Amino acid sequence: MLEKCLASLEEAKHALTFASGLGAQTAILSILSSEDHIVASVDIYGGTRRLFENYISRKSVEVTFADFDQYDNISRAIKNNTKMLWFESPTNPTLKIFDIEKIAKLAHDRGEIIVVLDNTFLTPYFQRPLELGVDISMYSLTKYLNGHSDVIMGAAVINDSELKNRLRYIQNCTGIIPSPHDCYLVNRSLKTLAIRLEQHQRNSIEVAKYLETHARVVRVFHPGLKSHPNHELFKKQARGHSGVLSFSHSGGRHESYIILSSVKIFAMAESLGGFESLIGLPTLTSHGSLDKHVKEAMGITENLIRLSIGLEDPEDLIVDLEGALKKAFPG
Ligand SMILES: *Cc1c(COP(=O)(O)O)cnc(C)c1O
Repeated sequence: MLEKCLASLEEAKHALTFASGLGAQTAILSILSSEDHIVASVDIYGGTRRLFENYISRKSVEVTFADFDQYDNISRAIKNNTKMLWFESPTNPTLKIFDIEKIAKLAHDRGEIIVVLDNTFLTPYFQRPLELGVDISMYSLTKYLNGHSDVIMGAAVINDSELKNRLRYIQNCTGIIPSPHDCYLVNRSLKTLAIRLEQHQRNSIEVAKYLETHARVVRVFHPGLKSHPNHELFKKQARGHSGVLSFSHSGGRHESYIILSSVKIFAMAESLGGFESLIGLPTLTSHGSLDKHVKEAMGITENLIRLSIGLEDPEDLIVDLEGALKKAFPG
């Protein structure tokens, strides 16, 4: 029932659920054979990067990380044995926006390449990757789709029946499946998806606009802001944005620690997409397992703070951040 519901949310033919978002990714990667090649965006979730770098590479699947900021980089990375292309838009944690339709076409023009987009940040409510030419729309249901921070699950949404059959076989064969009770919980949560995401969007825009006016905030990363370099492209391919945003401040690690330990409503945690607001330092949390130089290339510095804006009153969140910034930057 849950799989049917997830497919219908994206007006897709099929959906398959897995024990976690990373479980969905492991199943999708299992489609590949040794000597196959993946092109992945540099800007991906830290756990995905770890799966590619430390696990799938050891199974003789070759991975090239390309900076998707330049489309030429993607073209150059594609080889004769490239079988999969993997990216996110918006990215984590710097909220970059890539032209999904253009990238999917670029890959398909070069051969039989399965294009995967991790759509966890926006959900089908705000963005429908399959309609933009993507082959597999991948989700961590743990985040917005469940939204209550009480389930871990993943999904793959697909139109191609042959691809679905291959993944269905892997799902059954490997046993990377969710429990019936968890499926019930996610199915329940989907009934409030629309109102939750509308509220996440309203709140995150308000907080982002407040941060933009703060003297100690250097940059705010939120694709719904006019100041975002790809705001127009974002509006073209997505209907809105959820509660994830990041900002950099004029201090360093020390000031970040003060901000993180001074907020009262925001909980310090790595996840996102739940009803409660969370704050984190990507350099230590979501991307903590990556090398320093990789992080720096991704713009993940010690003064970059990520917020997952929940469903609270936005005024309360702003007051909370204001107090924390004041503590970090007295005078
Ligand atoms: C959390 C997350 C994942 C991993 O999902 P789990 O359900 O935690 O395994 C993958 N991609 C993105 C973008 C995420 O935020």
